[in-house]
Amino acid sequence: MAQDNIIDGKAFAADLRGRVGQAVAGLKRDHGLTPGLAVVLVGENPASKVYVRNKAVQTGEAGMNSFEHKLPLETTQADLLALVAKLNADPAVHGILVQLPLPDQISDHAVINAIDPAKDVDGFHVINAGRLMTGAKGAEAPLVPCTPLGCLMLLKDRLGDLAGQRAVVVGRSNIVGKPMAQLLIQESCTVTVAHSRTRDLPGVCREADILVAAVGRPQMVKADWVKPGATVIDVGINRIEGEGGKSRLVGDVDAAAREVAGAITPVPGGVGPMTIACLLANTVTAACRQHGIEPPKL
Ligand code: NDP
Repeated sequence: MAQDNIIDGKAFAADLRGRVGQAVAGLKRDHGLTPGLAVVLVGENPASKVYVRNKAVQTGEAGMNSFEHKLPLETTQADLLALVAKLNADPAVHGILVQLPLPDQISDHAVINAIDPAKDVDGFHVINAGRLMTGAKGAEAPLVPCTPLGCLMLLKDRLGDLAGQRAVVVGRSNIVGKPMAQLLIQESCTVTVAHSRTRDLPGVCREADILVAAVGRPQMVKADWVKPGATVIDVGINRIEGEGGKSRLVGDVDAAAREVAGAITPVPGGVGPMTIACLLANTVTAACRQHGIEPPKL
C-alpha cells in the first residue's frame, strides 16, 4: 500500500511545537508571562536521561523556561516531596514533571499526588484523572496525560469527527490505556479496553475502526488482527535486537499491518514525538490557567 497511509507524528509534533512557540511569544508580549517547566529526574536510568534532556531542549526552543533537577538514586521520598513542595510554591514554575520510574524507596503514587494538580502537566494526579473521567470542562478541565492526548490529536487530524467509531484500546495503564479510553469515550466512540486477560484478543481487535496498541510487547498485534481500513495508533516503544547485533525500535504492532490499515502511526516517528509536544502544550495551558488567561487552542 502507498505510504500515504502513514501518520506522520514527527511532522505533526513539529507543527504543534511551532504553535506552542507562537503561543508562548504571545503570552510574553501580552501578559509578561513566560511559562516554566520543572523536570525532576531521580537516578541515572539511561532512557529517562534521554527523555529529560529532550524535554529541556524542546522547552527552551519553545521559548519557555526549563528547570532541571537531577537527584541521586538514593534520594529519600521525604527529600523528593520537599522539592515538589518547593516547586509547587514557585511562581516561575507552571508545570512539574517527575520522571518515572522512580527508585524502589519512593512511592510514585505519593509523589504524583503531592504535585499541585494545577501544575501536574503529566496529568497523572488523581484530581486530573477524576476530572478527565467526569468530563470536567472550563476552569475545572483536566490536564490530560501527554501520550494519549497526542494520540487523540493524530486521530482527529486524520479522521475528523470520531463519533460512533468502534475503538479498541489494548492496554489499561494509568499513563496510556485508561486515559486514552476516557478521551475516546468523550469523542463518542464505542470503546473496548483490552488487556492481558482479554479472551480472543485478535477477534476483539478486528472489530476496531480505531485500534490503539499500548502494550509494551514488540510487534504483538499482527496484520490479520487489523480490520481492513482501520486506523491504527501504535504507542509501543520496544527496543529489540536488529541486524548485526544493533538494537532498533519497534512498536507493539507488526509492520505488516501497514498493508491492511487505512492509516497507521510508524515507530519511531509516530506517537513518540507527540508526547513531548503535548507536554509543552500542557505547560502553556497550565500557565494560562494559573494566571486567569484563556488557554490558546493548540
Ligand atoms: P504498562 O506495562 O503499564 O501496561 C501494559 C498494558 O498492556 C497492561 O494493561 C497489560 O495488561 C497489557 N498487556 C500486557 N501484555 C498483554 C498481552 N499479551 N495481551 C494483551 N494485553 C497485554 O505499559 P504502558 O501503558 O506504560 O506502556 C505501553 C507501551 O507504550 C510501552 O511499549 C511503552 O514503552 C510505550 N509508551 C510510549 C510512550 C510514548 O511516548 N510513545 C509513552 C508511554 C508509554 P494487564 O493490565 O492485564 O497487565
